[in-house]
Amino acid sequence: MNLFAALRQAFPADLDTCAIEPADGPDTTHVYTWRDLDHASARIANLLDSLALPPASRIAVQVEKSVEALLLYLAVLRAGHVFLPLNTAYQAAEIEYFIGNAEPAVVVCSGKHFTWISRLAFKAGTTHVFTLNDDRTGTLLDRAAFHADQHTPATKSADDLAAILYTSGTTGRSKGAMLTHGNLLSNAQTLKDYWGWRNVKEGGDVLIHALPIFHVHGLFVASHGALLNGSKMLWFSKFDPKAVLARLPEATVFMGVPTLYVRLLGEAGLTQAACRHMRLFISGSAPLLIETFNDWRTRTGHTILERYGMSETVMLTSNPYRAEDGERRGGTVGFPLPGVGLRVRGDQGQALPAGEVGGIEVKGPNVFAGYWRMPEKTREEFTADGWFKTGDVGKIDADGYVTIVGRSKDLIITGGYNVYPAEVEGFLNELPGVQESAVIGVPHPDFGEGVLAVVVPRAGARIDGAALIAALKNRIAGFKVPKQVFVVSELPRNTMGKVQKNLLREQHKGHFNA
Ligand code: AMP
Repeated sequence: MNLFAALRQAFPADLDTCAIEPADGPDTTHVYTWRDLDHASARIANLLDSLALPPASRIAVQVEKSVEALLLYLAVLRAGHVFLPLNTAYQAAEIEYFIGNAEPAVVVCSGKHFTWISRLAFKAGTTHVFTLNDDRTGTLLDRAAFHADQHTPATKSADDLAAILYTSGTTGRSKGAMLTHGNLLSNAQTLKDYWGWRNVKEGGDVLIHALPIFHVHGLFVASHGALLNGSKMLWFSKFDPKAVLARLPEATVFMGVPTLYVRLLGEAGLTQAACRHMRLFISGSAPLLIETFNDWRTRTGHTILERYGMSETVMLTSNPYRAEDGERRGGTVGFPLPGVGLRVRGDQGQALPAGEVGGIEVKGPNVFAGYWRMPEKTREEFTADGWFKTGDVGKIDADGYVTIVGRSKDLIITGGYNVYPAEVEGFLNELPGVQESAVIGVPHPDFGEGVLAVVVPRAGARIDGAALIAALKNRIAGFKVPKQVFVVSELPRNTMGKVQKNLLREQHKGHFNA
């Protein structure tokens, strides 16, 4: 079934009630009813239909967060095309790669980036470039306004592609995780039940949506959660702890990356009274420190529910929601969700007993269809018996709780965003005077991990760390740029010639005083 059609069926009977209320941004008086969501997404879907694109065309979107950007996502599903969201922090080098790799038929970007993005897109064969700004302006909406507000969703089967999410690759090249209508819908239905979402008759839930919508957490877990339950969203275009706290008394569900919880704990206004209507706080995308988990319970009386997932699989595990299913254990990511298989394997692929650490492998209707145009890479990441190797290292204890202990793929997670060292090293090594580099993540009190680089200069060259940082800022997203560069004469290596990043991490672990 078309994922949009399933979400549409879940809209409440009274279409004139509020679906999304913007809580910040240019116009907080403009609320969106369920009818608005239906009509506006129909108009954009009709616009896409009028372009006579090949079936399952990629629609690449790099825009600031807005309700209209979410409507565009719904319209792409509705018209049967493939949504390809891009992080708003991505710069020219990254956008050029994504557009060249995905070959989108349509690109939607902010008006202020139209000149350079359209040049890249048309060169790569894109036929249409529209603009969409966060204040309801841009050519996408101008053109959609001429189209009808009724639209029959395209017929889709569970195996048809719905979205491609690019994850950075350890080789420095991003891979496009292909997610199907079946992957996304089955996961949303599982979470609806597991997290006890309340429908309108049961009093309804109100979700605070303060996450970006170019990532699995905000786009799928949060938005699908609310839409599939006909629940209202309080919509924040960016996370501001004071602004979120001010609206918390109206909400029942909050989803955040650990950094957001740390920021909220820094506010004196975070009290039990502020959380009096809250039903559920959910954390994921990066490890939640046990201190944060405990402090949150002391301050608010609520126990954060930590869950684990990734772009390739949507959600995999969750701590229990209902007390009868068990307690929520800090430091763990809970149990595999119903329908998800999760096992831990040793280096040789052997089964490991409870409590032993190994590679986490998963299976289920939520597991993606493979990496876009990378059949080799896809094959490498699946075992012979069809399990996906997540690249995460962890264990399952005797009670069945899963704990993530590290990442075999060397991923750094800073403020909930993924940074693959190999990619940043590739850009650093291209800069004048740089012989080689090692990029590492070390504990950071605010971001979880902070990015650092250790760089070796070419013979006779003099390099300045601040200048390297400035040069990188023009090329790649700010969250990937090292906060500090250390210049050394050589990198520590093992006998196999591999850089010993563990030694570098140890040496610099106190840099941010976390
Ligand atoms: P992404 O594809 O951007 O969602 O990143 C997925 C990665 O984030 C996973 O492979 C894990 O390494 C990490 N991750 C997600 N949730 C958690 C969690 N609750 N605890 C620890 N790591 C997590």
